[in-house]
Amino acid sequence: MRPRDLLCPKPEGLYCAPGDFFIDPVRPVARALVTHGHSDHARSGHGAVLATQETLDIMALRYGDGFAGSTQVARLGEPVAINGVTVTFHPAGHVLGSAQIAVEHGGMRIVASGDYKRTPDPTCRAFEVVPCDVFISEATFGLPVFRHPPARDEIGRLLKSVSQFPERTHLVGAYALGKAQRVMRLLRDAGYDRPLYIHGALAKLSSYYQRCGIELGPLEPATTDNGAKRDFAGAIVIGPPSAFQDRWARRFPDPLACFASGWMRIRQRARQGGVELPLIISDHSDWDELTATIRDCGASEVWVTHGREEALVRWCELEGISARPLHLVGYEDEGD
Ligand SMILES: [Zn+2]
Repeated sequence: MRPRDLLCPKPEGLYCAPGDFFIDPVRPVARALVTHGHSDHARSGHGAVLATQETLDIMALRYGDGFAGSTQVARLGEPVAINGVTVTFHPAGHVLGSAQIAVEHGGMRIVASGDYKRTPDPTCRAFEVVPCDVFISEATFGLPVFRHPPARDEIGRLLKSVSQFPERTHLVGAYALGKAQRVMRLLRDAGYDRPLYIHGALAKLSSYYQRCGIELGPLEPATTDNGAKRDFAGAIVIGPPSAFQDRWARRFPDPLACFASGWMRIRQRARQGGVELPLIISDHSDWDELTATIRDCGASEVWVTHGREEALVRWCELEGISARPLHLVGYEDEGD
């Protein structure tokens, strides 16, 4: 059996013909396996969904209980048989509930890693290396220029700015699933114990994280309706990046725009977005994590998807690992 007989790209997503299922399909299908809850990977309208409990919960929070015809919980490390194909979910270290999916058939194992990172994240389980024949890797930050600094140091820069400008409101842009809660947790780990003010779009997911036992400390709504503008002087307000474009953001006193994203490595990108304090905090692997992971899993073949596919393919070839880009469409990760 050739690897592409087990998994191959289709317009709907990655398809397993012998098992008759898709992984992270971007269009409604009969049977979907979902790696994590970001909206480009987890869509509503499938017939049946197999995912971790957290990913199923997150999909229900975002789309409502009827997001799929039926659901099945995938327990980490427990093999599940689908039409004679064995699939096993393993932690991916990306966001709460995120998993890689190992697909095995006829003595071959392909690991679809979804989105992943290797740096420790107190809000989700650590990535697990799964030895395999073929490794499917994302390449969101697949260029050597992308090297993420320790997140702790970036949070240190934020707290330093808060103490330097006590009269200003620090507005931190962070994606609603994963990044926002990671920023909250990192602030708590750095000893920040004052209330964090959050945009309404973060409320449901943040309380879900708390129900899962991830301590985020006191969170309060960042509402300005009662006109008490001065209340937010010196405060940290966290909201989704999209909220920073609208009137909501301008209500705060002398706001200082921060953005927590791997893209903040690119200064021009920060400047264009009007970001005064760029925080390089990413839920994706940087170049060193991508290449280390490819070595660690021992795959003789690598398929590269969403992102800088060509550079990582070239790196693999120079390492003597056969590699090709998958050119899957429809993935614009909401959680960089
Ligand atoms: Zn993601």
